[in-house]
Amino acid sequence: MTELPALALALLGVVSGVVLWVRSRGEPAWRGAALGTLAWGLSAASRGLEPSPLPGLPDGLLGLGVLGWLWSLYILEPKALPQRALGPLPALLVMAYAAVSWPHISLHTLVSLAALLPPLLALPALEAALRGTASEARVSWSLGLLLMAAGTLAPVGLGTPLTLFTPFTLGLGFILVGWGGWLEGRSQHLPKELLGFMNLGLVLALVLLALDSPEVKAAPWALATFAYLMVVALAWMGLAVYTRIQRAECGLERWIGLLQGLSSNTSTQILSLQGVMQSVLEGLKPLFPNLLGLEIRTDIVQRVGHSGPYVYNFELFLDNPAEGRLYFSSPPQDERGLGALAPILTERLRLSLTLSEWRSKAYTDPLTGLLNRRGYERSMNRLIRLSQETQKPITLALLDLDHFKRVNDSFGHAAGDEVLKSLAKLLRTISRADDLAVRLGGEEFCLVLFGAGLEDAGRMLERVRLEFKKLQIPQVEGALSLSGGMAGGEIPTSMATVNRWLEQADSALYDAKQAGRDRIYSATPPTLRPFGR
Ligand code: GH3
Ligand code: MG
Ligand code: MG
Repeated sequence: MTELPALALALLGVVSGVVLWVRSRGEPAWRGAALGTLAWGLSAASRGLEPSPLPGLPDGLLGLGVLGWLWSLYILEPKALPQRALGPLPALLVMAYAAVSWPHISLHTLVSLAALLPPLLALPALEAALRGTASEARVSWSLGLLLMAAGTLAPVGLGTPLTLFTPFTLGLGFILVGWGGWLEGRSQHLPKELLGFMNLGLVLALVLLALDSPEVKAAPWALATFAYLMVVALAWMGLAVYTRIQRAECGLERWIGLLQGLSSNTSTQILSLQGVMQSVLEGLKPLFPNLLGLEIRTDIVQRVGHSGPYVYNFELFLDNPAEGRLYFSSPPQDERGLGALAPILTERLRLSLTLSEWRSKAYTDPLTGLLNRRGYERSMNRLIRLSQETQKPITLALLDLDHFKRVNDSFGHAAGDEVLKSLAKLLRTISRADDLAVRLGGEEFCLVLFGAGLEDAGRMLERVRLEFKKLQIPQVEGALSLSGGMAGGEIPTSMATVNRWLEQADSALYDAKQAGRDRIYSATPPTLRPFGR
């Protein structure tokens, strides 16, 4: 090497190293690569100087360069098991073989051999890029590392200082490493200029290798190896671009699917808030695989999926005081897409939230929170089907407070309301998931016990009667009691059956009142009979 290429190499190595150093401010993993490239460049330059300023300097710097890169490659994420990236392995083996088969193995040979380690250890990182989970720019810097190794090893393997090939290949390697490292943090794509530069550089390097010296002509394997590397590099570029296009197409299809899903509002979906939330979650999952769950907070919290452990959440302002939240196990990759999607999601959830509020208002009693008569009819239809499917009986009971007018008259209407709320609370605690607790109107309640025959239901209602008597309500003095009538205890054939039970329970209740109140009567079998007495 003459002094000019040595200076050019030093310059390229330094510029590349500085670029990577600036890059490493955003991602500390690049610090080792920055210093490594710098040292590698200085090593190549000092080797080119005649006489060498310090005998061990080039090898020492080269060793540092390799170590710096190894450190960076070790901590760099993401990685994948190399498969598509395995291409250069035969070329690396040939280079290693050529170096060790040279008659004089020296410390210099060994350090130069270490130059093969960075391109080898870059393969898992490159694999991630070829699978589309990391920036395509990795093709550039992996190829750069390969060229740096080739430029370092060629003179060792051929046993001659190559006059043009070595500095050219090393310089090209530095440029591709610096350019690729810089791009990795900024763009997912390989720009056209870089692709063109890579191809042109590789062709020129091959030509230079062919022209370089008589020794090369005597060693055709060197040309073959380099030509093979060119093919590998071309395959990498093609693969990276192809994967990107495929992923983009796939992503587009998912987006279209999601938007279609969100805009389809079949009546069943729109009525159930949980259903809408579930469909939103399922629609988002293919686009955001790290999405854990969706939550809506109003006075209650409704959730589909999970909320934790999460590391990132995305807020959706629905309405005052309703807010929605998406929980992610890691920050979403396509944050911009999520931002653009937010208004549509918000609108969809807001609409079904309003409808579900309206619906729950229509089916529940505002004072006690129990089902009202409409809610009862709606749920009863479902319960009849469930009873027929599971072959479990239903018992229906009517409950009426005793002398409730007196409570109102003596302690005021507000105190009366408190009594109604306390009874409602008691009914809610005692009833099970499939039971219905209903305020039919005024101070008349209905309890529908699923899976209970008359015997079981009788025991349950006795418990209600006794627990109610024990209730302490601050505004009310004196004992409270209720009377009840029940009917059914079978599997209903239709709503008409249940309506008949309701009439029977009503007349049993009337009889219970006549018999002195504070008791539960059963309409069947076959004569009236009191429970618990
Ligand atoms: P009985 O033992 O025969 O049932 O006597 P009763 O006093 O309970 O008689 P009835 O069932 O005819 O009276 C119903 C009373 O319930 C009339 C009304 O003052 C009261 N009531 C109905 N709805 C409400 C309500 O929402 N709040 C309050 N505080 N009282 C109500
Ligand atoms: Mg009453
Ligand atoms: Mg009444």
